[in-house]
Amino acid sequence: MITSELKVMKNFIGDQWVDSSGTETNEVPNPATGEIIARVPLSNQEDVDRAVAAAKNAFPSWAATPVPNRARLLFKYLELLRENKDELAEIITMENGKAINDARGEVQRGIEAVELATSAPNLMMGDALPSIATGIDGSIWRYPLGVVGGITPFNFPMMIPLWMYPLAIACGNTFVLKTSERTPVLAERLVDLFYEAGFPKGVLNLVHGGKDVVNGMLDHSDIAAISFVGSEPVARYVYQTGTAKGKRVQALAGAKNHAIVMPDCNLEKTVQGVIGAAFGSSGERCMACSVVAVVDEIADAFMDRLVAEAKKLKVGDGRDESNFVGPLIRQSHKEKVLGYIATGEAEGADLLLDGREIKEETPDGYYVGATIFDNVTPEMKIWQDEIFAPVLSVVRVSSLDEGIALTNKSKFANGAVIYTSSGKHAQQFRDQIDAGMVGVNVNVPAPMAFFAFAGNKSSFYGDLGTNGKDGVQFYTRKKVVTERWF
Ligand code: NAD
Repeated sequence: MITSELKVMKNFIGDQWVDSSGTETNEVPNPATGEIIARVPLSNQEDVDRAVAAAKNAFPSWAATPVPNRARLLFKYLELLRENKDELAEIITMENGKAINDARGEVQRGIEAVELATSAPNLMMGDALPSIATGIDGSIWRYPLGVVGGITPFNFPMMIPLWMYPLAIACGNTFVLKTSERTPVLAERLVDLFYEAGFPKGVLNLVHGGKDVVNGMLDHSDIAAISFVGSEPVARYVYQTGTAKGKRVQALAGAKNHAIVMPDCNLEKTVQGVIGAAFGSSGERCMACSVVAVVDEIADAFMDRLVAEAKKLKVGDGRDESNFVGPLIRQSHKEKVLGYIATGEAEGADLLLDGREIKEETPDGYYVGATIFDNVTPEMKIWQDEIFAPVLSVVRVSSLDEGIALTNKSKFANGAVIYTSSGKHAQQFRDQIDAGMVGVNVNVPAPMAFFAFAGNKSSFYGDLGTNGKDGVQFYTRKKVVTERWF
């Protein structure tokens, strides 16, 4: 059930929901209406200390719990998440604004991350080789790290926390989670369902707040590792500060994802794909398509169709199934985006579709409609910066070589996609493009949970991505044992 009454949220520490000792709170609006749906506490060091102490206390017996028993609790958690998936999607749309179908997709992706974590008994297995010398055997054993901290962004309130704590906990760690203070509501349900599944108290703790909580976690000597997902400057800061303090850190950062459209593509499917990738979830996805490099031969036909289709997209409250583009997260973000649209015009790009011109049925929401710039160049801010909104820049290129060279100039390298019917073009793109996640005729090439998820260049700070085998390696430390028995 969704409640719209104002409430001050609590932290979950050890075995119960408790008030934060911080005195400041932030209002949490529904971005579609501006209605205040919750009040989130900005917790402080004392709250972090209590959460870490609870996690540390729970660690020895949790780490000693047999791996299959840990996985069985995750199977129960999976069941509960599935049973409650409609409610979880509604909460996402209420606090984040994304269209309900996008929220349903997010719930599914989150569930898939928990499915991965149930494989811990397989994934944690080490290697062994008998007789590495006469009478001597060698083997590798994996152990949990201890207390792990997770810090998450506003744009996936379910999927991204679920990239982190289920796998970390399956590997025997205990966890302190700090979700975005802009979308804190869903975390409450995630924690309640977690304990309903039967996990021992203290294994998962939740501390609400902003940068003070992040700094408290970075400073805390009992936190062994930090998983972070968020914007580039903060990811860089978290990585540099955390590693300087001896922690293991994975910090997934911002993005500016490019697609190359080849003359031999399926035009209809390409246009549909770009529309979904650029304007779905209001462009507030780290894997959103923000730049298209279209090859001259097909550029006019592609642009005509793209603009015609984008004009049809309905903008409005994400709870209404007919709306495709929901609101942005905050008024302040909307203003920043409007600033970028003005900058694009001033820089000389051709504004073919202006998202400022929308009819708002709910004027208090933070709406910007689908926006398309043509004839963008790499010198322009709208080509370079992550705008994180339904704003698409199109550059025209003469060839695949030029498209790849241009794309590789971006400081970001999260995802990249090619639209083509040529295996040769696809192969060249795969081998030469600098991106962590590559799509061939796949609009949002976000990997399934059994593969690792991470970008390159300024889109990622760290060595091991989230999910997949990377995730298991990140959340465990190895011992190589060489043994001889007399
Ligand atoms: P954000 O960086 O503002 O916030 C992320 C987290 O950092 C939040 O929990 C926030 O409280 C905390 N934080 C914010 N400012 C801080 C500061 N100065 N010091 C310490 N902590 C701070 O990011 P956001 O706006 O919530 O999320 C959107 C960003 O996340 C985009 O840049 C997007 O590309 C990125 N993102 C990346 C991925 C990926 O996989 N690479 C996935 C999702 C989102």
